[in-house]
Amino acid sequence: MSYVDSVLEELIKKDAPQKEFIQAVTEVLNSIRPVIDSNSHFKEMGLLERIVEPERVLMFRVPWMDDNKKVRVNRGFRVQFNSAIGPYKGGLRFHPSVNLSIIKFLGFEQIFKNSLTGMPIGGGKGGADFDPKGKSDHEIMVFCQSFMTELFHHIGPDTDVPAGDIGVGSREIGYLYGQYKRLTNRFHGVLTGKGLTYGGSLARTQATGYGVIYFAEEMLKIKNDSIKNKKIIISGSGNVAIYAAEKAAALDGKVIALSDSTGWIYDKEGIDLETVKKIKLVNHSRLRDYISIHKNAEYHRGKGIWSIPCDIALPCATQNELDAKDASNLIKNGVKMVVEGANMPITIEAIQLLQSEGILYAPGKAANAGGVATSALEMSQNSIRTSWTFYEVDTRLRHIMSSIHEHTYDAAEAYGHKGNYLVGANIAGFLKVAEAMMEQGIV
Ligand code: GLU
Repeated sequence: MSYVDSVLEELIKKDAPQKEFIQAVTEVLNSIRPVIDSNSHFKEMGLLERIVEPERVLMFRVPWMDDNKKVRVNRGFRVQFNSAIGPYKGGLRFHPSVNLSIIKFLGFEQIFKNSLTGMPIGGGKGGADFDPKGKSDHEIMVFCQSFMTELFHHIGPDTDVPAGDIGVGSREIGYLYGQYKRLTNRFHGVLTGKGLTYGGSLARTQATGYGVIYFAEEMLKIKNDSIKNKKIIISGSGNVAIYAAEKAAALDGKVIALSDSTGWIYDKEGIDLETVKKIKLVNHSRLRDYISIHKNAEYHRGKGIWSIPCDIALPCATQNELDAKDASNLIKNGVKMVVEGANMPITIEAIQLLQSEGILYAPGKAANAGGVATSALEMSQNSIRTSWTFYEVDTRLRHIMSSIHEHTYDAAEAYGHKGNYLVGANIAGFLKVAEAMMEQGIV
């Protein structure tokens, strides 16, 4: 049995119920086989056994009192997965679906994503099974304070630097930071995605979405093509989706559909983003409000956004949102490119289908790395106590995305998989971490 297969078999034996984690590990290990098979040192040093095991897993009680004076208890997590190339770095997710499997899959992905950025950041992830939907501002604050009252023991600007993810935006980061500062009496860059008045970086809000489009442009450039005049579908309507749509529109692409957890909108004239921003970012309301302003647009309940014909599909909502059936719909309707804005939004079967049909495909760990890369730029600015202009940060982001593209493309080609961005991203991300781990001994 090959080294990869034996490590996978052992992991499945131990962690079978952690479906998403197993899925993420299987995808990565399968695609780095060419590297593992040609280097017996990795096996001798137990590298794969070590890389699939988090350095530390924290699970903790988050007690808080709601506005009706009822005591509530949520489960908090921080998985400090790998610190071979820098302090643990990765977001916090507040969503009722959060469990150990979800946080481990996200933490595992984050190792390779962060490595790809070229910045000195290790991999981590955290969150809670807390549902921010329908909660008052006061409840959100109380929850964040309770969450940080445990988390602060385990983080620090040179140890572990959390940020946002689904359900954690600038409001939550503000409350978390305030509590951290109160508990520690330290003002330093322990979180990223902070507000601009207390150490946040310009362009961090836009970075993940803009980065997805910069990456997609690089993929198209190789084919002598561009975003211009392409029909684009984007799932989700959070930070990633909205700013991907904004940058796509700025490059003359036509974004015709967006979604949220209850349904999707289709506007064949092109989505009016100002309306969407007002609905989602200001009013925190549902996307269906869009059709009361744009009478010619359509609103559909439920899933189904992938049934609309388009040139480019950008899943920017959540894990496993695009399955094999969706992929065959997209293929049937002539999709040319699919780029992941979310983390692991496409199932393994769906990826195989897209690749077997020769559709250009890029994984999230390469295409959505602009967010965490800009977090690392925020850490740099905090360390040297300065703040760069929007233009400066955006220019750095552009360079980072183009270099991730280059490394990914080159790694795929070097290992005989030209044009396969999945293999390229996993190999390029893995090699740097593997080298660092090998040089640091068995730790
Ligand atoms: N949650 C984001 C991600 O998936 C950003 C993490 C960060 O900025 O640390 O990469």
